Amino acid sequence: MSSPDAPAIASPATLGPGRQPVRFGFENTFARLPERFYTRLDPAPVAAPRLVKLNVELARSLGLDPDALASAPGVEILAGNRVAEGAEPLALAYAGHQFGQFVPQLGDGRTNLLGEVSGLDGVRYDIQLKGSGPTPFSRGGDGRAALGPVLREYIVSEAMAALGVPTTRALAAVTTGERVFRETALPGAVLTRVAASHLRVGTFQYFAARGDTEGTRRLADYAIARHYPEAAQAKQPYRALLDGVIARQARLVAQWMLLGFIHGVMNTDNTSISGETIDYGPCAFMEAYDPVKVFSSIDHYGRYAYGNQARAAHWNLARLAEALLPVLEQAEGNGEVALASANEALAAFAPQFEAARASGLGRKLGLLTEREGDAALAQDLLDRMAANRADFTLTFRRLCAAVDGPGGDEGARTLFADPGAYDAWAAGWRRRLEEEPVPGQARAAAMRMESPAFIPRNHMVEAALDAAVGRQDFQPFEELMDVVGRPYEDRPGLERYATPARPEECVPQTFCGT
Ligand code: AMP
Ligand code: MG
Repeated sequence: MSSPDAPAIASPATLGPGRQPVRFGFENTFARLPERFYTRLDPAPVAAPRLVKLNVELARSLGLDPDALASAPGVEILAGNRVAEGAEPLALAYAGHQFGQFVPQLGDGRTNLLGEVSGLDGVRYDIQLKGSGPTPFSRGGDGRAALGPVLREYIVSEAMAALGVPTTRALAAVTTGERVFRETALPGAVLTRVAASHLRVGTFQYFAARGDTEGTRRLADYAIARHYPEAAQAKQPYRALLDGVIARQARLVAQWMLLGFIHGVMNTDNTSISGETIDYGPCAFMEAYDPVKVFSSIDHYGRYAYGNQARAAHWNLARLAEALLPVLEQAEGNGEVALASANEALAAFAPQFEAARASGLGRKLGLLTEREGDAALAQDLLDRMAANRADFTLTFRRLCAAVDGPGGDEGARTLFADPGAYDAWAAGWRRRLEEEPVPGQARAAAMRMESPAFIPRNHMVEAALDAAVGRQDFQPFEELMDVVGRPYEDRPGLERYATPARPEECVPQTFCGT
């Protein structure tokens, strides 16, 4: 039930009075897997659900009626107070390596998978409530989520989607009218998360750790059918599955790094089989370029630092390969051959990541052909950015204005503590650009599609969350959502969203905040 003073939901003008029944058209393919894959469990009701944000466009793209979702019965479903028709709520089992330590049972400790819906794109998506109450996997946790982290995931996951990065999405955020107790009492909330699936490397580890090869194989078959249907035709489908996950992760991490994104908690339970970014806990976009940058308060040794992300993903994929090994062995009929095959698959990660990163850096520099020396040119820029604390996002964005000639250099060079460091690099860049066949203007436009003007800068995210949590003022959140929803457009008047934090605004650390 939304109260009369509820803050505006997305595009209220497009929402009618809406009392239509909510029709999800759920499929429940995961619920058809063996019982040991999950626990059947309804969400736990909350005191006073109130819709604070609905993703109208995403709802439409999933074939869902936003009016119905925003209606009182819809909001009750999004809060977990009512089970939608056709839903078969489940808490999924999974394990995971957390900061290198294996935990044989993690699982959905505060989420319920309601079911799956087919999007207009033909892809089947999980609809999951996060913060929807304790489960047998809660391990002492309260099963709940606080409003701040829910809005944070909403902002950053939707920003990633707008940036073109594979990611879970946010369909809705509902406040519960209840408090959750972390370091202090905080308003509670439930996020409705949408994902191509919630299968993780840790899901495979769960079965492998129990010696349940049949379970691992069932899971692999499910993952192939859902995410890698072409693998079913391969000579070795399970090897093809491993190849597919490796390829998507290599590309994904390259995309993160090309945007200055630091995931922050790349545990194997947060590494998705579909290749989507999942788990927006302590993530952050860096401002000043620093390859060893860490934001997460719990990442004491920099395991998941910006520049370690490819290595971390590779390590996680090695854990996936290990978990799949008994299945590969059964398929090959030979342990040695299976091991060699898994290692061969893993060896492809680094070259795929490097190729994706190199071509992405090339495009960010306006280089549409590949020449010897391009990688060194890009690295030289990054080194100079690091030495001069240049803002990652703005430097690349301002190169789009500099591409036509030295007249456009001023914006970029002033980002460097020593602008001369930029000038020296730019001279070599211009010589290289002369070898490009594409005319300047088309090149600048292409570059603007690679390097966003707007990312969810940490201080703007914090300000939006502070206003929502502390003052029930959702206006800064709404504004920020509008800004990060169109990241590649220059929009006059929004400069304060495009520029780095002033020293006193800086957010040096992020917290999981679970
Ligand atoms: P995360 O840090 O979100 O990746 O979560 C790691 C594990 O802790 C997962 O099994 C979560 O379900 C569980 N977890 C996190 N927060 C809570 C909570 N408040 N209550 C119960 N389980 C939780
Ligand atoms: Mg997680």
